[in-house]
Amino acid sequence: MSNAGSGRPEPGPARSGNAGGLPDTVSGVIALDGTALAKQIRQQARAEALEFSPPPSLTVLLLGHDAASETYVAAKTRAAEEAGVRAETLRLPSGTAPEELLQAVARASQDPGVDGVLVQMPLEAGHDRARVIDSLDPAKDVDGLHPENVGRLHQGRPRFVPCTPAGILALLDHANVPLAGRRAVIVGRSDLVGRPLAALLTARDATVTVCHSRTRDLAAVCREAEILVAAIGRPGYVTAEFVRPGATVIDVGINRLTSLEDAPENLRRSERIVDAIRTKGRVLVGDVDYDDVSRVAAAITPVPGGVGPLTVAMLIHNTVRAATLRRA
Ligand code: NAP
Repeated sequence: MSNAGSGRPEPGPARSGNAGGLPDTVSGVIALDGTALAKQIRQQARAEALEFSPPPSLTVLLLGHDAASETYVAAKTRAAEEAGVRAETLRLPSGTAPEELLQAVARASQDPGVDGVLVQMPLEAGHDRARVIDSLDPAKDVDGLHPENVGRLHQGRPRFVPCTPAGILALLDHANVPLAGRRAVIVGRSDLVGRPLAALLTARDATVTVCHSRTRDLAAVCREAEILVAAIGRPGYVTAEFVRPGATVIDVGINRLTSLEDAPENLRRSERIVDAIRTKGRVLVGDVDYDDVSRVAAAITPVPGGVGPLTVAMLIHNTVRAATLRRA
């Protein structure tokens, strides 16, 4: 797909099967289907997992009762089991002491029967995220957050690529979006998404700009992007004003709206969002105003059905990879 500057989008990547009830096209934009690609990745991981006896195993540590975390962990463990990966969730009650969490991470790290360990974030207040990540065995760190794995990624010899950026890259490749020499702008610099994605895109010869809450004139910087990635955590923040005509837009955000009052004014104009809140009492939206941006972008990931399923699929991929590396 040739991108920005051409004015209008060109066809190329696979179209979405109307993921999450979103319109398949809005004036010709291509919805990048993460669900279908995630299925392929999980099937491939399953074929590899079946080669192992005992099967690859994943331990997820879940601290407290955050509703979103519960949903993510359930999706991850369900997908793991479906892919022939044994998945165990270790639940630690809200208020667990920091030392107890560290001991639980150490036990999973030392357990020879466990291939992959994941600590579901965010942690409750009072826990030191860096200490928890440091206490993971880097050979089991399937989220790719341990400093050793971060360093390896930045040196261009990754062991585990963090799941969300890995999924985004897989989607861009699947859609034949050229990366070399292209301008990529990432909004968000978290160690889970923005920073590792910047390393991956740089390694693929894109010219990458990383933006954050202190970036001046964000919309103007974003308008330079042929590939624009929003990983902010603010519903509908990226509007058409941020998007160069013909750009590919990747929406990482997952925001739950339960009332119209939670929605910014631009999203209140979306019939789909208003209807979902009225009828179901909730709706998931990204950081991108899908309807508005669809008027100018060439391709866009829907929410749900874009990056989310790929994150889960890449976790399974990484767990099978951990088993492969550990048991070689
Ligand atoms: P995070 O750790 O909270 O980081 C958010 C980033 O956005 C920060 O770098 C922050 O800047 C920046 N930011 C916040 N407000 C901004 C603004 N007004 N203008 C410019 N930059 C701004 O979030 P995260 O973990 O990366 O997650 C981001 C979003 O992606 C969330 O909605 C999350 O739920 C979602 N997510 C989805 C998946 C998936 O599988 N689809 C996976 C992970 C995360 P500062 O650094 O200056 O504070």
